Amino acid sequence: MELQFLGTGAGVPAKHRNVSSIALKLLDERNAVWLFDCGEGTQLQILKSTIRPRKIEKIFITHLHGDHIFGLPGLLSSRSFQGGNEKLEIYGPVGIAEYVRTALKVSQTRLSYELKIIEVKEGIVFSDKQFTVSCKALDHGIASFGYRIVEADHEGELQVEKLTALNIPSGPLYGKLKRGESVELPDGRVINGKDFVGEKKLGRIVTILGDTRKTKNSVLLAENADILVHESTFNKEEEKMARAYYHSTSHHAAQVALEAQAEKLILTHISARYLTGDIIQLENEAKEIFPNTKIVKDMEIIEIPFKAE
Ligand SMILES: [Zn+2]
Repeated sequence: MELQFLGTGAGVPAKHRNVSSIALKLLDERNAVWLFDCGEGTQLQILKSTIRPRKIEKIFITHLHGDHIFGLPGLLSSRSFQGGNEKLEIYGPVGIAEYVRTALKVSQTRLSYELKIIEVKEGIVFSDKQFTVSCKALDHGIASFGYRIVEADHEGELQVEKLTALNIPSGPLYGKLKRGESVELPDGRVINGKDFVGEKKLGRIVTILGDTRKTKNSVLLAENADILVHESTFNKEEEKMARAYYHSTSHHAAQVALEAQAEKLILTHISARYLTGDIIQLENEAKEIFPNTKIVKDMEIIEIPFKAE
């Protein structure tokens, strides 16, 4: 499981920072990629990566500002040309369906795959055996959501080689052993399943927030997250501007990560007016409050490891 930042800029495309889009790569988990926002030029960024558009299974839109959605119709259309036949689902605020359907209709674009558009409300928006995705409203002047992706815990695997090495025959008793029960073998040996089951791994939690002022819901969404992705449009001296434009400062993002007891904070949505030195400063400001902070660049990949027991 890893995140790849396809666009880390704020507002308008810049030379080294394209507008917002993040890929959550779930290739080992489900041979799929989930996209979060799709600013203009996202399909070009995808071309520079190893992501195949047909593998994009879901697209989650945080809010309807142009720098988060203007790449959507183009990507949907190209996915058709590139042999995408698998169904695609888009989740987003009310209005996303009208926007996408209108763009496809007036351009007479016909897709080769089924497109399902789900307009979200707060709560669980998707759930299966592997993942649950929920969302809450943020504070951005326009409907903006944060998404919390929770992976189910991985049960420990039965260590079959260890069992066969001890001449323990396979069969229904393997099921009992896997559940950690004690079993008496036909030859009288009693063995305990707990000795033959690998480590259980806690599922990972990834929180990706749309643009927002600092708000309580951000903390709730990021509770104990392995990774929190937060915007950082302004520096700590620009708090008034952040408030006026419904954005956050680097300090706000760090406070959210701290209050939520997140593991790692990733800052994105970086203004093009910041030069390299300013960006280091922005990161250091956040680190004053939450040390495990990183500002990402376009195309950067961040691994999401399992929590150490
Ligand atoms: Zn916005």
